[in-house]
Amino acid sequence: ELAELDRRHLLHPWTPYGVGDQLVLVEGSGVEVTDAHGNTYLDGRSGQFNATLGYSHPRVVAALTEQAGKLMTYALLGSSNEPAVRLAARLAELLGEPDGRTLFCNSGSEATEAAIRIVRMYHALRGQPQRTTVLSLADSYHGTTLAAAAMSGSPLAWTGCGPLPEGFVRVPTPGSTVRDRGEVRPGAEALEEAILAQGAENVAAFFVEPVLGVGGIRPLPAGYLRAVREICDRHGVLLVVDEVTTGFGRTGEWFAHRREGIRPDLLTLGKGLAAGYVPFAAVTTTAEIAEAFAADPMLGGLRHGHTTSGHALGAAVSLAVLETIEEEGLIEHAAAMGERLCGGLTDRLKDLEGVSDVRGVGLFAGIEFDTFDRATQVMLGCLRAGVIVRSEGPVLAVAPPLIVNAAQIDRIVDTLHRATTAATG
Ligand code: PMP
Repeated sequence: ELAELDRRHLLHPWTPYGVGDQLVLVEGSGVEVTDAHGNTYLDGRSGQFNATLGYSHPRVVAALTEQAGKLMTYALLGSSNEPAVRLAARLAELLGEPDGRTLFCNSGSEATEAAIRIVRMYHALRGQPQRTTVLSLADSYHGTTLAAAAMSGSPLAWTGCGPLPEGFVRVPTPGSTVRDRGEVRPGAEALEEAILAQGAENVAAFFVEPVLGVGGIRPLPAGYLRAVREICDRHGVLLVVDEVTTGFGRTGEWFAHRREGIRPDLLTLGKGLAAGYVPFAAVTTTAEIAEAFAADPMLGGLRHGHTTSGHALGAAVSLAVLETIEEEGLIEHAAAMGERLCGGLTDRLKDLEGVSDVRGVGLFAGIEFDTFDRATQVMLGCLRAGVIVRSEGPVLAVAPPLIVNAAQIDRIVDTLHRATTAATG
């Protein structure tokens, strides 16, 4: 009955017709979810990479319930609320930016959209209104709203949605074409070439994901973000790091850009922030950029945001999520489980027929197949065996909740091995 109602009434995001209704979930606990027929599955994709603490985590449920009975919402437009203030302060602390400021949003796409507006308005306020061009990688994904889609790589994001907002230019994805004497190319020099081609005085910002997620779970080559930071500084271009998917432990660190020791000018956050319990996202920035908006002649503040920016319930849940990650040692745990996952997948799958590549970092792994069809077959094989993974084109994404244990990792690896063998046999 639910499947029938689903087919008649739901429009699924990013799903071919007739696929989403196969898995109608009604319950979740730990890393497992149960469908309407009572079948239980190990969630190897954390919902949509967001359920980092799994389902029904008692601490998060308690925080959610307590806040709902206290102050459900209060807008940050001309007022404030306690959880939003505490969360913004906690994020500044976590990021090592003592005066860092946060704008809250409701989704990763909104965080991207906000960051685009912030960088353009910032340059305009600083007397450089022509600095509007936004650069991004050719295989990036930054969201589904019009400007976020216009800067995303895949034609799936923007074909047929025009006219698109202007001022978005793609930069070749590093390591995407040739490997020359061990050096990954193209590297960051492609960004500098793009900046010079546009005229540095016209470029507002470069947006980058530390691991290309929708673009195939591709970690950026070591050193790339550091080189990019230097290039942006040389040309007055702001660096926006999109950690909507990679933030909050997914890669075995609080934030993936930390590995490179860089400080972004803006950071977009989503998914793991509220661990999927409520829609919640954020853009953080430096005091210097945030202060510039005091001089806005029309408002004397930032002309951007939403009714529910900094929703009290979302902020309270996010605070509980951050506390849980810290107190349960989930960053270190994710790093250890990530090694087991990426090591296991590499050992067991890399040389199988039909597998082109196995890669990943932390609990964010990708198996690239020779065809989209084979990836789909393996995904369906895993589903029949009770393990959910997600296909991003020919790549299967494996990203279980951070609370996953060693036996569950081994089950995911075994299941993928068996499904891949069956799909190629
Ligand atoms: N940025 C990245 C890197 C993402 O992976 C996504 C979502 N997959 C988004 C932004 C958009 O987030 P949302 O789906 O919450 O709008």
